[in-house]
Amino acid sequence: MTSDKCSWCGKKAVFFRKYEGKYLCKYHFCQSIEKKVRRVVRKHRMIHPGDRICVAVSGGKDSSVVLYLLHQIVKNRRDIRLFAVSIDEGIEGYRPESLKMAESLCKKLGIEHHVYTFKEMFGEELDSRMKKVRADDSLQIKESCTYCGVGRRYAMNKFSRVLGATKLATGHNLDDEAQAVLLNYIRGDLFRASRMGPDTDRGANGKKDSMFVSRIKPLREIPEREVGLYALLKGLEVHQTECPYASGIRFEARDFLNHLEDKYPGIKFSILETFEKIIPYIRQFAQKEIGDLVLCRKCGEPSSHEVCKTCELWDEK
Ligand code: SF4
Repeated sequence: MTSDKCSWCGKKAVFFRKYEGKYLCKYHFCQSIEKKVRRVVRKHRMIHPGDRICVAVSGGKDSSVVLYLLHQIVKNRRDIRLFAVSIDEGIEGYRPESLKMAESLCKKLGIEHHVYTFKEMFGEELDSRMKKVRADDSLQIKESCTYCGVGRRYAMNKFSRVLGATKLATGHNLDDEAQAVLLNYIRGDLFRASRMGPDTDRGANGKKDSMFVSRIKPLREIPEREVGLYALLKGLEVHQTECPYASGIRFEARDFLNHLEDKYPGIKFSILETFEKIIPYIRQFAQKEIGDLVLCRKCGEPSSHEVCKTCELWDEK
């Protein structure tokens, strides 16, 4: 918060946008977020007539804001259906509370809401899985976010497809996208890198794949801090507690990028812009290295290997 005046109307500013050098009052801040999101949706042609958009909601600020804004954008479109899906990974003291908030927002907006659990999908919750993983020295992958993220992406794709979605909207913001660019580069994960970008219904070969529901990320150009402030100013009740498993390289990448952004405002935007320029080449290269997607021998879901990562991580009990 700041005591300066809005650069547009002179009213009391609530935010200083360092990368633009502008002070913004509540009205102009919210208006700028809404305009930007509409522009991103238009620019990347994220919504088409007849779409059935499934929004992945967790009750956190990002997914609540994306649900709220998409509802604003399509509420008068009779040809477009919006519904929400949540995944309960089984994280005690964290997920039940956040799912209550997701449920309450969906109710307020009159949006149909489905919840699926790791327990019903994999026969086990994340908490009990991680206890076993930590006790088993033969397992190389130990990071809870890997088990959680792989399982969640799998579940969201599968259930949104089963529910008839033509688009899967997620709350990924600019910070998430910049972190993912950096992490995929560090890990040399070309498959994941080739599936980033605004048109994420493609395999490593750049072709559309019917087993993947097209993912759209309307907040991909909004910095995380601004998503949080928008939620606050709009009075959205969001879950603020950090996940008890939140640690590991992603969080170090987050701190590193925040440090850079502080010193060099706008750096997260330039990471994303540069990545968008080179993504066609990454896809070409990934196609040569990885080839076409196949269906996982165990579960039948799309995979870059004979057995998909989800079956590899969640079946090795
Ligand atoms: Fe899952 Fe990690 Fe996010 Fe927690 S911090 S919800 S374990 S991805």
